Amino acid sequence: MTLRPAAPDTGILFERTDLSNGARLFPARYDYVADTFLCTTLKNASGATLSTVEHVMAALSGCGIDNALVEVSGPELPIMDGSAEAFVFLIECAGIVECAAPRRAVRVLREVEVVDGDKRATLRPSRLRSIACEIVYDNARISRQRAGFVMTSETFKDEVASARTFGLMEEVDGLRANGLALGGSLDNAVVVNGDKVMNEGGLRFHNEFARHKVLDAVGDLALAGAPIIGAFEGYCSGHALNVRLLKALFENDEAWCWDSGAATATWPELPLAATA
Ligand SMILES: [Zn+2]
Repeated sequence: MTLRPAAPDTGILFERTDLSNGARLFPARYDYVADTFLCTTLKNASGATLSTVEHVMAALSGCGIDNALVEVSGPELPIMDGSAEAFVFLIECAGIVECAAPRRAVRVLREVEVVDGDKRATLRPSRLRSIACEIVYDNARISRQRAGFVMTSETFKDEVASARTFGLMEEVDGLRANGLALGGSLDNAVVVNGDKVMNEGGLRFHNEFARHKVLDAVGDLALAGAPIIGAFEGYCSGHALNVRLLKALFENDEAWCWDSGAATATWPELPLAATA
């Protein structure tokens, strides 16, 4: 995978260098999402797919990057250690250039909510960008946890980027039996077996599981194509519900507006709002 600069108003564009010219490009937008089982998969007009875009999207969005070309040499993004830390490292090494063009954001004007059984995802109007996630697992180690932040670049890098994806031992066995997660190991996910974390070194945060849900939500919400100014709250939500939430937002013209120029130039950089 290679990150390259892109002109203002490009947005985030993925390019699969292993495909022929007409099929290589994938705009990172919710209306190109084809599948949300286990990860977020994009599909372009020629039917080609690109999987596991969410952690790279989270790193780009979390670092405040609106325009970039992401080249990748195969059908999925590298999983690395299961977090966004390696991608943030690359972005920081490369450096960031501020565009002369005004930054365009999506401002939430009305509450939008999508529900799937007990699961819920909500966007509310707020002058800050905040992301909060709560998860409830029928597992002694994960159980119920919550993580919530006013999302600035600093908060993303310090509190969210290194939270790894996770799975239960019994799920991993089931996935392998179905030919999935074949590259999965303790090197690229936290694996929980009963009340034990199998990874040497344990967890990176006491609520690493909930923080990874925040990371996923940052990446999925970036598929709006612009930063969202509003408060996100997820209860047991995942990629499917997050993408449905974006569709619900953009289907309702009264629920959002474009916000550019002065209003977004003064986004406050606030300290951490809440962790539980
Ligand atoms: Zn994830």
